[in-house]
Amino acid sequence: MTINASFYAHLNNELDSIRAAGLYKFERIIATPQGAHIRICKPDGTQQDVLNFCANNYLGLSSHPQVVEAAHEALRTHGYGLSSVRFICGTQDLHKTLEARLSRFLGTEDTILYAAAFDANGGLFEPLLGEQDAVISDALNHASIIDGIRLCKAQKYRYAHNDMADLERCLKEARAAGVRHILVFTDGVFSMDGTVAQLDTMRALCDRYDALLGIDECHASGFMGKTGRGTHEFRGVYGKVDIVTGTLGKALGGASGGFTSARREVVELLRQRSRPYLFSNTVAPSIVGASLAVLDLLEGSTALRDKLEDNTRYFRQAITAAGFDIKPGDHAIVPIMVYDAVAAQKLAARMLELGIYVVGFFFPVVPKGQARIRVQMSAVHDRAHLEQAVAAFTQAGTELGLIGGKA
Ligand SMILES: *Cc1c(COP(=O)(O)O)cnc(C)c1O
Repeated sequence: MTINASFYAHLNNELDSIRAAGLYKFERIIATPQGAHIRICKPDGTQQDVLNFCANNYLGLSSHPQVVEAAHEALRTHGYGLSSVRFICGTQDLHKTLEARLSRFLGTEDTILYAAAFDANGGLFEPLLGEQDAVISDALNHASIIDGIRLCKAQKYRYAHNDMADLERCLKEARAAGVRHILVFTDGVFSMDGTVAQLDTMRALCDRYDALLGIDECHASGFMGKTGRGTHEFRGVYGKVDIVTGTLGKALGGASGGFTSARREVVELLRQRSRPYLFSNTVAPSIVGASLAVLDLLEGSTALRDKLEDNTRYFRQAITAAGFDIKPGDHAIVPIMVYDAVAAQKLAARMLELGIYVVGFFFPVVPKGQARIRVQMSAVHDRAHLEQAVAAFTQAGTELGLIGGKA
């Protein structure tokens, strides 16, 4: 075999072993805009209408008429694309307005846009921290945070997930090691369990050890807290977090784009040194214009996040009453615990037959014996949709012997 033939054979072996381990990921094809009702294309060529409970469309803005219209308007006034990075000829008035509006929304001084939150996190740590510094990270932080930290030269510490005593151990060790600056970084909300980081406790600990606190708000911006500002508002530390990263690709419209929001000098240095910002194209005008409409909607009224909160409360209570175990909490991510991986797959498949699209998660995405169905609430769901989902879970769970004693 030539070297190249052996390379491709190696890739095919890797793919076979992914399939053999049951870890192969398929894309499900959808033929409609995002919403409560979507139409999926099935492998046999037919289509099926289903209720969607697995999008990050928390506020229902992905297809909101005002958001879509604002995208059209920006397309007309500012064109399709800029064919440039920000600092050459890729910055329009819209980009500066969105950065200012995000800063106001998040309670920070300044904001820098990225093509994705993955890039915001990927380009965050390396410009800000050197080898004299330390970064302390939650063990379950998002892949983009892990990658961003890998790229920086700071000393790396990791604490057990959401474990404040272990975080304090890291802070003590870093201080004892004589590091210069310490940055503690966490997901505001963790997407597998819907766990909300204890930012109030974390802020107090960071103050005690003179550390900075940074949060990734991808599963929080727009709806956590009474006015939807995020986990910092939810935990009573709005305006007291040093760095906030987030996405425009989930609750805030669902297209794409990310940001880092912080003190003026943090953002200023990122504009000088952050590689995904310097060496990647600017965010498209239609997305920027639509994001401004999203912020208008959210600053004008809390109706959408209030409806999401009501839906979450109702569904958590109703699915528990139906006999399922859920991870308790307040977040719109509702993990229905099945524990067994095969049972979780069967339950998700049966739910789809019953017209409810939900996804099962099992090892290695979650720990062994912790398989679950992750249900995500949205403000586009009406009470009837939630009732339909609970009825389908009850039927499928009974058929599979997961609830109601022996089926
Ligand atoms: C989704 C997500 C990201 C990535 O966001 P993109 O804008 O899609 O790149 C980063 N961090 C967390 C915690 C996320 O949930």
